[in-house]
Amino acid sequence: MFKKILIANRGEIALRVICACKELGIRTVAIYSDADRNSLHVRFADEAICIGPPQLAQSYLNIPAVISAAEIANVDAIHPGYGLLSENANFAEVCETCHLKFIGPPPEVTRLMGEKEKARAAMKKAGVPILPGSDGVLGGDGEALEWARAVGFPVIIKASAGGGGRGMRIVRSEQELPGLFNAAQSEAAAAFGNGDLYMEKYVENPRHIEFQVLADQYGTVASLGERECSIQRRHQKLLEESPSTQVTPELREEIGQVLCKTLSDVGYVNAGTIEFLMDTDRKLYFIEMNTRIQVEHPVTEMVTDVDLVKSQILLAAGETLENVLHGPIVHRGHAIECRINAEHPEKFTPSAGKITTFHPPGGTGVRVDTAAYAEGTIPPYYDSLIAKLVVRGKDRDEAISRMSRALGMFIVEGVYTTIPLHRKILADPEFRAGHTDTTFIERFFARNGKQG
Ligand code: ADP
Repeated sequence: MFKKILIANRGEIALRVICACKELGIRTVAIYSDADRNSLHVRFADEAICIGPPQLAQSYLNIPAVISAAEIANVDAIHPGYGLLSENANFAEVCETCHLKFIGPPPEVTRLMGEKEKARAAMKKAGVPILPGSDGVLGGDGEALEWARAVGFPVIIKASAGGGGRGMRIVRSEQELPGLFNAAQSEAAAAFGNGDLYMEKYVENPRHIEFQVLADQYGTVASLGERECSIQRRHQKLLEESPSTQVTPELREEIGQVLCKTLSDVGYVNAGTIEFLMDTDRKLYFIEMNTRIQVEHPVTEMVTDVDLVKSQILLAAGETLENVLHGPIVHRGHAIECRINAEHPEKFTPSAGKITTFHPPGGTGVRVDTAAYAEGTIPPYYDSLIAKLVVRGKDRDEAISRMSRALGMFIVEGVYTTIPLHRKILADPEFRAGHTDTTFIERFFARNGKQG
């Protein structure tokens, strides 16, 4: 087992990894930028090393600085969290070269699954349903037009290196294609340093449903069921739940089996998430795979009682899945997560600054993952997620009432947050009835005005 792990991340996920390490008796090393000097991940880690100025490129994304910190602290492994370097195959390779265990899949598997059109091709080959679309990267807007005609409008142009909903454009007619193609290309090039685009059929009113898997180094893969993440704004998730109201036990079992076989065949190791869209006929289509822990992983932890981050560490250390899981996966009750972002409720722009009051809710079935605290500062340089409020109830109705009361008892002052928006979503009759496709938020704003 590892003796010491460096956490190449910040905020709530760095704390989450520290929790897992503490429970496993593993020492932790935090890295931090100048802006995070007073952060809780620095306080709770056994050791902490400053790796540079606030800008991401000079600190948390600075591979030589992260590796130097790992060497100085003499760690055995690096946990990358989510975002930042977590899906960077080059980083995983550098870790290997330096004899540091990267807690995630091998770099070649990250490379295969990380380029979205390559992952599409791999899934298609394995018999997992994908949406009709281009074979690989588009050569230019002329080729895009040919594919769009073949697939039929509407289509969606997506960035091969995509993430966070960037570099994506819905195209409804031939006339608007060249303009939207160029816009997607520049956005992708700016965001990812890679302007490669591909195309898929656009599904009207889909649900976003994703499956969590865990895999050991010996070819065994387990599916831990699904999360529904259809409540999104600008293609970014706001609220997630498990199980989905639309996934039957048979469908869960069927998809789980196909995924376990496919991932075992490609040599997948560690935690991963396979994202699908479900159309109005309840058919699932693969859209992408994330080769890391997800923001919304606590939803699965609440209904399965499996600690996914501890599992990641144990699997990376060479444990078998059998030893990590101790028996079959059992799903109990219903869980919901609300992402609490520090942002302006109308402009949706990050709301950095000092938190003056911070009172997280508690009680039965309530979990708060956060690195925020009263008098703490939210720096303007990073993600606006400041807390994840997660609840579990015996069924969806109980989870909804529990979440509503927990949101009502969550006090954050000094910065704007998405708490008021979530309270209104939870009270919305369409949400309560389970009518949750990815266009829910648009309809919700149309009904209630911009603030919900
Ligand atoms: P990213 O990696 O940028 O998050 P995804 O491929 O995961 O991009 O898609 C993000 C969201 O965009 C989906 O959850 C869905 O709401 C929307 N989306 C993506 N592809 C399609 C599609 N083919 N049809 C309809 N909506 C889509």
